[in-house]
Order: sequence, then structure tokens, then C-alpha cells
Amino acid sequence: MTVITRFAPSPTGKLHVGNIRTALVCWMAARVEGGKFLLRLDDTDRARSTEENVVAIRRDLEWLGLVPAGEVRQSDRFALYEAAFETLHAAGRVYPCYESEEELSIKRKVALGRGLPPIYDRAALTLSAEERQRLEADGVRPHWRFRLDATPIEWTDLIRGPQHFEGAALSDPVVRRADGSWLYLLPSVIDDIDMKISHVVRGEDHVSNTAVQIQMFEALGAAIPNFAHMALLVGADGKLSKREGSIGVEAIRAEGIEPQALLGLLARIGTSEPVVPVATADELLPGFAFSHMGRAPARFDSEELAQLNARTLHLLPYEAVKDRLPANVDETFWLAIRPNLTTIADTDAALAVIEGPIAAPTLSPEDRAFCADAAAAADALDWAETPWAALTTALKASTGRKGKALFLPLRLALTGQDHGPEMAALLPLIGRERAIARLRLAAGAA
Ligand code: GLU
Repeated sequence: MTVITRFAPSPTGKLHVGNIRTALVCWMAARVEGGKFLLRLDDTDRARSTEENVVAIRRDLEWLGLVPAGEVRQSDRFALYEAAFETLHAAGRVYPCYESEEELSIKRKVALGRGLPPIYDRAALTLSAEERQRLEADGVRPHWRFRLDATPIEWTDLIRGPQHFEGAALSDPVVRRADGSWLYLLPSVIDDIDMKISHVVRGEDHVSNTAVQIQMFEALGAAIPNFAHMALLVGADGKLSKREGSIGVEAIRAEGIEPQALLGLLARIGTSEPVVPVATADELLPGFAFSHMGRAPARFDSEELAQLNARTLHLLPYEAVKDRLPANVDETFWLAIRPNLTTIADTDAALAVIEGPIAAPTLSPEDRAFCADAAAAADALDWAETPWAALTTALKASTGRKGKALFLPLRLALTGQDHGPEMAALLPLIGRERAIARLRLAAGAA
């Protein structure tokens, strides 16, 4: 079987963290099996779908490297839906209903008042042809429901395990509005059949939709795909968090989060696998399996994301970032500074330390004298090999200093800061001229 998945966002808004997790799991499920990951734009709601959102969805997926092998738009496919609808109509699986919203709401209240589930009573099925004609002559246009079979509905969910629903306990869902427009349920099934989707992967808020949709697959004579329903995403505090779950990709990117970091976190939260930094999304594949995904909510913590971002930057090769670095940052420079970055924007600060000018540190008279010695030693040094090792060895011998007393005044004098990247990596980048000048400045001699 070729694994084919689809990510099916509605372009009624921008992608958020919850959507991205769905897209990523769809992508991994296909990729790990050498299958296909497709994008389906659920834009049947013409009023709320916008082109701007479509463009943003494509751009976000590209930024994340979750590039679909194909794309379909539901708004291009109404003829397909019409044909399937006719098949279902001919088979008596969809039927016209004439109740207004108010009537339905009263029916629901009455049922609840009697302690019954608020299931549609199928009154429309008992209308005679004449009654229907009369209603239509009065200008009432029908909406359409799918007639469920009163049978048990069962499937083994790849994440949730065996699932069981009773068809008789579910309400016949409305699939088409009186104005002819489509609701989500039926077009999704028609597309899944047409696109040969093997695995429907989505959030667990769709579990009861699946029960209904399984009967739609059957009614259309199609094989039932595999289903995997992911547990919800919650905030760090374990509560259903609107805020964290709804953080947009745009905002995450603006904070300097690398796509690999976002993917690395979203691939592992709510699973039995540890969160690890990765340089490419493909590195996530060996740890992926639906069986690793738990039923408990997945915790998304922005703080954990920030930390993973730093760990991710520490292993990103120059090639992966060079387009976003200042032009004068070469590979050696990148490798020297990346262990100290939390976001790529920190590169500017690192560059400023190397290129200067830096402020002269405030040092004790002894440390100033030491810096004067260091300036002389640096001047006498062979800079071709490993100047930091050569400098500190020479100063250790000539001054007897060691440890912090040796290193800290040098770091302060050479970088203006008491912390930062390895001096061994930095000093060659600072270079001979600047290093000597900075040491002299710290000594008070410049
Ligand atoms: N457009 C639906 C949603 O965003 C798709 C659900 C599905 O994957 O079938 O919830």
C-alpha cells in the first residue's frame, strides 16, 4: 500500500502550532513509508476563506520544509461533490429536510427536557411527495442530511486503539445547506476517496466525525482509510490553552525560532520519545510511529521551544544558515559563535564583539599591568597556529597566573564581556591587530 496523507486546513485563518503538529505528523507518516504528503485546502466556506490565508499556509509549510507533493482546493471540486451527492441521493442516503433553525432548536430542547439525546427525529423522512412539493412551492428550500445506518461503527484508531460508536445514537448530519453550499463532512470523504488517502491523520476533535464519515465511505462504495486521531495540544500548565495552541507560525518565526526547532518539539511532545534537537526534519523519521503517540494531551511549552531552539542552532551547519547571516560571517566564524547563540539574531552581537569597537573594561591596577604584559606577549606571538593557547601558555610562564586570574582579564580586555564563545575560537577572528590594540586599551596604555 502506498501511504498517502493529506493536511487539510481551512484557509479561514493562519496556521497555528496545533495545525503545524497535524501537518508534521501527516508529513512524517507519509515520508517514513516513502509515501506522499498532500495539501488540501478546505475552502468550501467562501465567505471566510481568503487568498491571503492560502498564500500564508503555503509559505508557512515551505518555511517548515513540509512541502506537499500536490495540492487541491475544495472550491475547484464542486462538480465532483455534486456527482457523489447524486449517487447518494439515488441510493436514498441523503434526504431533504425543511425545518428552520428555530424548529430544530425547539426539537432539541424538547428532547433534552424529556431526558433524551438531542438526535434529529427524521421527521423529514416521513414527508409525502405532496408535502414536500407544497413546502417548496411556499419557497422553503431544503437542506440535506445523510441518513445513517443504525449499525455499530467500529475502527481501530492508530493512536486511540479500538473505537466503537452506535449509528443509532448519532444524529443524521446535515451535509448541504439550503443554498446548495457544502458542510465539511461529505466533501472531505469524497476528496479522501478521490485522492486515494490511505491515512487520515487529524485532531481528536474529529473522532465523532469519523464515525459518520465511515458510513459515508461505505455508502460511496469506497475502502475505509486508516485513521489516526491525535490528542489535543495543551499549554505548559496542562490546561487547554487557547493562547499557546493558537500561537501563529508568523509570531514564532518573528521570535527567531528555527523551523527545525519547532518541528523537533512538535514531533515529540505527547509521545514516548525524547525531545532532541535536529538539523533536518528527516532526522525525526526514525523516532516516528503512531504507536509512540499517547492519548494524553501533548504539552506545548514556549520556554521549552526557546531552549530547543538554542540547542538546534548549536548543531546547524553553516550551509543551513548562511543566507541569513551577515555577509562577513564565514564558516569559521559561524562555528566559533554558534555554541553561544539562543537565536540567530545574536550573531549581530557576536559580530560586534569581534569587529568592535568594544568598551575598555574597568580593571584593577594589577590586571591592567597584566594586560600590558599580554599586549607585549601577543605582539611577540606567532599568530598562524593557535594564538590563544600560545598566548595563555606564555603568560602563565611569565606571570605565574592561572585559572580565572589568567583568563578573565584577557576575556574582558579582548571582548569587553565576561562570557561568550570559546576564546580559542574567537581570538583568530579578532585577529592580531585588534587583539593587541584591545589589550593596550585595557592596560590604559592606548
Ligand atoms: N478542515 C478540517 C479541519 O481543519 C479538516 C479535518 C480533516 O483533516 O479531515 O479541521
